[in-house]
Amino acid sequence: MHGLRASAVVLLIVGSTFLAPAPSAPAVAAGPADPEPVSLVTLSVPDAAAMERLVASGADLTERVRPQPDGSVRIDAVLTPSQLAALPEGVSRASGSPAPAAPKATATQQDQVVVERAVWFRSRDGYFLSVEASSSAAEAATLTVTWQGRRGTSGQAEMVAYVDAGAYLGHQFSTPVPADDRPLRITVTSTGGGTAQARVREWPDGARPDQNGRGYQKDFVTQYMPPAQLNERIKALHRQFPRLTDLIALPYRTNGYRRHAQALIGTPPGAAVVVTSNAYGSEGGNDLSVELAAPGAPDRPLRVTVSGKLITVSLATDASGTPVSTAAQVVAAVNAVPGIPVKASLYRTDPGAGVMAAAPPVQLDDFLNAPADVPRAPAQVLALRIGERRDGSRTGVLAYAQEHAREWVTPLVTIEAAERLLRNYAHDRATRRLLERTDIFIVPTVNPDGANYSFYDFNSQRKNMTNHCPAQQSDPALRNTWGVDVNRNYAVGSLSDGYFGASANCQSGTYAGPGEHSEPESRNVIWLAQKYRNIRFAMNVHSYGGFFMWPPGAYKLDGRVTLPRPTPQDEAYFLRSARTIEQAIAGERGTVIWPQQTGPVTDVLYSAAGNSADELWYDHGIYGWDFEVGADLWDPATRTWEGVGFQPPFEEGHAEAMEFATGLISLIGIAADYKER
Ligand SMILES: [Zn+2]
Repeated sequence: MHGLRASAVVLLIVGSTFLAPAPSAPAVAAGPADPEPVSLVTLSVPDAAAMERLVASGADLTERVRPQPDGSVRIDAVLTPSQLAALPEGVSRASGSPAPAAPKATATQQDQVVVERAVWFRSRDGYFLSVEASSSAAEAATLTVTWQGRRGTSGQAEMVAYVDAGAYLGHQFSTPVPADDRPLRITVTSTGGGTAQARVREWPDGARPDQNGRGYQKDFVTQYMPPAQLNERIKALHRQFPRLTDLIALPYRTNGYRRHAQALIGTPPGAAVVVTSNAYGSEGGNDLSVELAAPGAPDRPLRVTVSGKLITVSLATDASGTPVSTAAQVVAAVNAVPGIPVKASLYRTDPGAGVMAAAPPVQLDDFLNAPADVPRAPAQVLALRIGERRDGSRTGVLAYAQEHAREWVTPLVTIEAAERLLRNYAHDRATRRLLERTDIFIVPTVNPDGANYSFYDFNSQRKNMTNHCPAQQSDPALRNTWGVDVNRNYAVGSLSDGYFGASANCQSGTYAGPGEHSEPESRNVIWLAQKYRNIRFAMNVHSYGGFFMWPPGAYKLDGRVTLPRPTPQDEAYFLRSARTIEQAIAGERGTVIWPQQTGPVTDVLYSAAGNSADELWYDHGIYGWDFEVGADLWDPATRTWEGVGFQPPFEEGHAEAMEFATGLISLIGIAADYKER
């Protein structure tokens, strides 16, 4: 309880980075059929009610969230200009430093202060201090930490109260505080009069990883890889190591990197019609054209004809020969033609009363820019199974990445780990032990369609590519908002069960889908857990922010009722294992995952209804973890922590892949030592 509960503090990150357009995006002036650009902005959210409105608004929130001294929270989000202009009530764009904490009334009774955790860590940037404490006066108290360190060093810093969904979770530093040398002792002083002292312990201070022998090989990833390349890599590994691997084609094919072809004709709002092909663009939809013709003669009826690939709408005219057909009439006329290869619809919520003007032929387009050799057909998702004995007799470990398409570093973590395991097996004892004792399942990309869309069309794509929106939310300018958040599509702690942190809005960044397990991407993950009952550990690899998390990952907002917490025994095991794995991660380049970002998802991040780790844990008894790779980098010039983003320059992405592959191999080591209880 202690320590874990204290880690209930959400860390947030701030920064404002504009996302570059996908390299393939055509540089054309924005028209009504073009999606709005997006940018990564930092929002200020005053309280739980505003956070609820923000989630409900469909905002695409990142994992960088931070409590502020004034009680608000700052969170990074991926937003369009229209979303920015219409932020939910109370939510605003963060600017400058947050307001200082309001002066608090002096408590009439001295409060009790408890230090939950006081730790120091040494990253490649020096010493840092992290403290979590609580006051019996809750958020009414302001807590200040003073410390003494080695060599007579000392310092002082104010904590922030963290209140989530109306519940006070404790006080912490907004981010770890730099110290001149190793901090030894702290005193926490409350404005309520209470104080507490504690010794400062080392973090993560986990078990030291197995030493790899001389000649241990690593560093196998040289670039970001789209799905086709990821699959080629694991196929090549299977060909080279047939006695140590199996290639598993997961049973549920994705919908495919494909869309129906569309055209927006006319001028919204009022007089505009959306035409959508029945066939996917790649299957003939892109060959169709639509024109609106003015007959140039009086008293003509509205007529629709299909000639080859051209659909001609001949507009009705009045006695003077002027076109009089409204958008609604054109839609009805098109849809009344038997066997016509398109459907017409009104633009968004327009009633369609505007009169349509003649328009030359417009070719329909699926707006997909990937090269022709990127397959459009439903995709097979592949798993590489690694181990000496792949018969169910060894402890299974599942590592799966890229549920979220834009998280380009995450597949590299799994590829790097697979390469290291296989290429060091023959000469490295520690690696051989892992392959003797475990049965490893690696899925580099759960969501290949979304990944292709992120690579070739819209690099901020989070979800899969399947559009479940009704016609009025399906005009081509909205195409970057479609899709299901794969990590909200699972069946435990789900939106439909009443849990918070997913959306029923098909355009939301966290759209849960039309039903639990509606998407092949989520069914594939659960299929692995059901089919291979020896899987006892799972790592769901995400980015960014630098977190290490486990269940529960969702709560009901009213009363902040979480999914059941693991037993104290299991919580201790989760935490102890995390410290071991974080020790291994730190060994790569000195990245230390912060203590306040190590813990249950609901405590250290937010509620994520219907996520996969919860289903693996609660339904299958699998220790389900989440990495958020891409920890903040310390900027010594500004003395602030800076976020790395979803697609950092490859040099940084490469370094993240190296350190979290080491972490993943450390998890496999924990599985190798695991004894069924
Ligand atoms: Zn993610």
